[in-house]
Amino acid sequence: MKIGIDLGGSHIGFGVIEDERMIEKYEKDFTDEDKSHIIEVIEEYIVGKVKELEEKYNIESIGIAVPGSVKDGNILKMVNLGIYNYNIKQSLESKLNKPINVRNDAKCACLAEFSDIVKKDGSLNNANIVFLSIGTGIGGGVIYNGKLLEGHNFEGYEIGHMVIKESGLPCKCGKYGCFERYGSILEYKNKVKQRLNIPQDVHGDSLREIIDNHKQEILDINNTYISDLALGISNLINIFEPDIVVLGGGFAHFSYMFKDKIINQIINSPLLFNRRESFDLRIAELGNDAGIIGATL
Ligand SMILES: [Zn+2]
Repeated sequence: MKIGIDLGGSHIGFGVIEDERMIEKYEKDFTDEDKSHIIEVIEEYIVGKVKELEEKYNIESIGIAVPGSVKDGNILKMVNLGIYNYNIKQSLESKLNKPINVRNDAKCACLAEFSDIVKKDGSLNNANIVFLSIGTGIGGGVIYNGKLLEGHNFEGYEIGHMVIKESGLPCKCGKYGCFERYGSILEYKNKVKQRLNIPQDVHGDSLREIIDNHKQEILDINNTYISDLALGISNLINIFEPDIVVLGGGFAHFSYMFKDKIINQIINSPLLFNRRESFDLRIAELGNDAGIIGATL
């Protein structure tokens, strides 16, 4: 039995995992008060939950997915929660006496989705896969010959920070024109909300319903979004020549609007170095569980 933990900007997802399946799942949302002493809150929750579950299960190891860059268990930078240089592995191993692995959340999700794909079709065991987690930003991972590629000194594979427009919009990373400023689902939703005067707190099904009823008024926003995603994805196809591109994150809820159009644009615009008649673009299937399951891999 393993524990998978997905540390997000606004909550912690926590799961008991057996053979890559979720046996039990818990969640904790951070309050504003929590954020003033976030490291203590995170450690208290994880230590408490693990000790409670140890009574019931034989826990071999713990995996933690974090939305930031990690080196040897040290979170170098986790901008959303304002955490810098925090060695979560060392700190929790001393309190829990279990091996702890820490990795970037998009890479964890990439591993989980890849494993799910291989389970359904074993012939893809050595496939090349590019995974994009399209949410508030864009993260991702690359599987090459069945193995996750990793950077050396730093994480690498910062797919969202590939520049697609010179002197473009400023990004929180300090650069300009990053892919995530054009392709994240957050940016898309913000543009639509502004155009249609939708309050910020409208989400999920109600937001999709409004979007579906106002397609004509936002046609230009949709077309630009499709073009920007097609550009970023085709850059990755040109570099990695993957067998499959998988799109996950919050984008999955909007994929019905965009998937076929993105494929169409990639194939029919002069974007690919090696032109193709078709390619395998899939929507991630594990949803919010991908980070938790992937953290144990
Ligand atoms: Zn950036």
